[in-house]
Order: sequence, then structure tokens, then C-alpha cells
Amino acid sequence: MKSLDSIAQALQGYDPKALSADTVREFLSHLVMPVTRHETVSIFQALGRVLSHDVISPISVPPHDNSAMDGYAFDGAQLSPQAPLSLKVVGTALAGKAWSGVVAPGECLKIMTGAVLPEGLDTVVPQEFVTRPTEAARLAPGASGDNELVVIPAALLQAGDNRRCLGEDLMAGQPALHKGEHLTPAALGLLASLGIEKIQVWRKLRVAYFSTGDEILSLGEPPREGAVYDSNRYTVWGLLTRLGCEVIDMGVVRDEPALLEAAFLSAAEQADAIITSGGVSVGEADYTKAMMKKLGDVAFWKIAMRPGRPMAVGRILKAKLASSPREISANSYQNNSNSASPEAAILFGLPGNPVAVMVTFLAFVRPALLQMMGSTATPAPLLKAHSLEPLRKKPGRTEYQRGTVSTAPDGSLQVKTTGNQGSGVLSSMVQANGLIVLHHHQGNVAPGDEVDVMMFDGVI
Ligand code: AMP
Ligand code: MG
Repeated sequence: MKSLDSIAQALQGYDPKALSADTVREFLSHLVMPVTRHETVSIFQALGRVLSHDVISPISVPPHDNSAMDGYAFDGAQLSPQAPLSLKVVGTALAGKAWSGVVAPGECLKIMTGAVLPEGLDTVVPQEFVTRPTEAARLAPGASGDNELVVIPAALLQAGDNRRCLGEDLMAGQPALHKGEHLTPAALGLLASLGIEKIQVWRKLRVAYFSTGDEILSLGEPPREGAVYDSNRYTVWGLLTRLGCEVIDMGVVRDEPALLEAAFLSAAEQADAIITSGGVSVGEADYTKAMMKKLGDVAFWKIAMRPGRPMAVGRILKAKLASSPREISANSYQNNSNSASPEAAILFGLPGNPVAVMVTFLAFVRPALLQMMGSTATPAPLLKAHSLEPLRKKPGRTEYQRGTVSTAPDGSLQVKTTGNQGSGVLSSMVQANGLIVLHHHQGNVAPGDEVDVMMFDGVI
């Protein structure tokens, strides 16, 4: 595995003083590695997990041609566009009970939705479309007098209508789900439709989190002047839990070298990735940055974005190597069967401001963690919305503004900001349902202009 420097050098336009958000994402995609161990879980444990293998369909779904309607099944070759078709009902096929008789030309079978279509029958007329001969017609000279005749109007149907074909959902032997897919409620149902009860998924990613900063209070502590309650711990816990990670919550770590060192080493020992908040700004008078440097291979970035400019990214070595971090070798990062990177944990040192934490998580940490989880999910597409207000924006950095996206009277999307975009204004994140993404080269936005929006649904 490559050193941070060699990854950086391979990137086009890498400039540590003014990194674009896209360059950061690319850098991270080269830094992280997916987990390599998988486990077997039952369907009820599988929601949100990532498949470690393709699932090949053991059966065809549906296993037989069957009826899509309650009605009458017959051989569609008898249909003519010019004349109604009269058929004699010779039996009933119920779902779950195959009908074993023979249906001759001029005959049909009453059939329920889902019932197997017998050999030779390929068309179903829904029951509400048939007519029955009137009493007078049945008794007329020359009529069969049959009580069980149904008449299908001319030009109503074509052969094959209302038939569900064998394997039209899935054919036996075809991949039903692919390695790297997230198991959604629909995917769980699909597995069940194939008769599959247990499934192989990548092991859960373990992510350790702690907040830093001497002004940060834990819940339960009395308020004191200049101090703020730790909110990042809870938002990060929520973000990681929704992503399907196992969270190792380490609370607040005081700004003391011995405590920070112990926290980083313990986190690196237990986790695939470590997230911290606070202490990475330029001119921070604390020990967080020094400790990251001491215990690993870490780059301190100023990203051309708002909010979330400062960020530390790299690796924290596990205890046995941390005493001699300069000896990081290719071997140190070799994968084994248990860990994303057994000798080091990936570090995301996020800024302290609560909004910056969430924005950097969304923009950088989330895609990197997904890659580590073995996911092949692509980012949700950005949507276009008309800005309801002017937005000031300097080209040369990416800005993420909190927005409320709604549907305009003409059906298109519109967005307005939540007002004060200060990166400590946490209430704005609650109010917003998405982020307005103002791209690196973009300038001011006039009212009515289209902007890109990234929706939060299911994430924040
Ligand atoms: P820093 O990045 O350490 O300079 O912190 C920037 C701002 O975020 C400061 O106002 C901090 O008080 C605030 N902050 C840092 N960590 C947290 C936290 N865990 N919860 C809430 N606010 C925080
Ligand atoms: Mg600080």
C-alpha cells in the first residue's frame, strides 16, 4: 500500500494548500481498502448490510407460467379481432393447486391470480370483461343451453395477455443480486422469493469516534462559562449507525497528551477507521495534531470548501508499530483476512464545528467508509432546483449551503437557504432537508438560477 505522499503525487493538480473537494475524494479513494472478511447472516439481520458475493438465483421466479388476473384461461390462438369468442368453462384452477385436466379448443378454465397456467393455455381474460349468454340466447333453438359459457368481446385481447411467464422476474442461474450491493427491504424480499434464508455479507466496519477540545462538556456535566455540550458525538454516532457501521464511542477526550495518545492507540487497536472532531484548525493550541503526527502518517489539509476547511487525513498505526512510525513499510498495510488494514486505522480528523462535521462527513468520510465496507453504491445523483434567492459565492472553492427543497407550483424543484450559514448553527441542519452544492468554479447565483442540491433523506 502506498504512502500518503505517493498517493498525493499521483493526483493531478494536487496542491496541499488549496485542495479541491474532488481531489480530496480522489485521494481518499486511493487511501482506503475494503474489508476482506465476510460472514453469514440470516435475512432478518441482513438489512443495510453489503453483499460479499453475487447471489445466483437457484430457481426461476415465477417457477411456472401463471395468471396475472382472476378470470378465464384459454388458448389465445382462437382469438379473432372480428368476432367474439365463446368458450365453455370446464374447471377451476386455484393459486397453489395445479389443475390437471385437459382444456380442449372451445373450452376455458376459470383461473385465479397466481394459479399455474396449464400446458397449452397462454391467455387470460379478466372476469369483469366476459359476458354470459342471456337466458333467452341459451334457450334459443340451436344453442347449446350450456350454463357455463363465457363470451369474450372481439378485439379486446391479444394472445399472451395477462400471463406471467416462467422466469420473467428471474431465471435460475442468473445473478439476482450483486456483490457490493446494499441489502434494501426490496432485496430482502427478493432473497426470500428465491427461498434463500441466509446470506453472505462483508463484516461490519468498526469506526471509533471521539470529540476533542477542553471546552467540550459531556452530557450530565454542569454548564460552565466558555464551554459547550458535545453535540458531534451524537451526530457522528447517528451518521455511522445509519450507514451500517459498528460504532466504538469513546466520548470526549481531554486535551492532554497522555489521554490523547491512549485514545488514539485504543481506537487504532479496535477500529478500521477513527473519526475525531476538533483540534485540526490552523493555530490550534492543543495536542491533537501533534499526537496524530506522532502516532501515524497524517496529512493536514486546508480544503477549498465551506464549511469544513481544515481536515486531517491519514492513518494511525496500531500500538506495536506506533513507537516507530517512520518504519511504515509496504507490509504494514498489507491486508489480512480480518481487517481493512490490520496495521493501521484510517484517520478522519474533522473540524470541530458541528455543521462542518456533518458536511465533511457527507462529502468525504461517507464515500470513503462505503468503499471500506465493500459497497459499490454510487453517490445519489444531485438534483436541480431553482434558487429562490440570490446566493453569494466565490469561485475557487466548493460551498455547501443548508437548504430547504420543495416543489414549486409548476412541479419543478425550488430551494431556499435556511438563513444564517454559520458553521456552528446546528439548528439549520435540522431545518434543512438537503445541501445546496455550489461547485468549485461556480460564482454568484441569481434568483431563479438552477443549482445542484444533495438531499439528506435517510442519511442525516
Ligand atoms: P475547533 O475545530 O476545535 O477549532 O472547533 C471549532 C468550534 O467547534 C469551536 O467553537 C468548538 O467549541 C466547537 N466544537 C468543537 N467540538 C465540538 C463538539 N464535539 N460539539 C460541539 N461543538 C464543538
Ligand atoms: Mg478546538
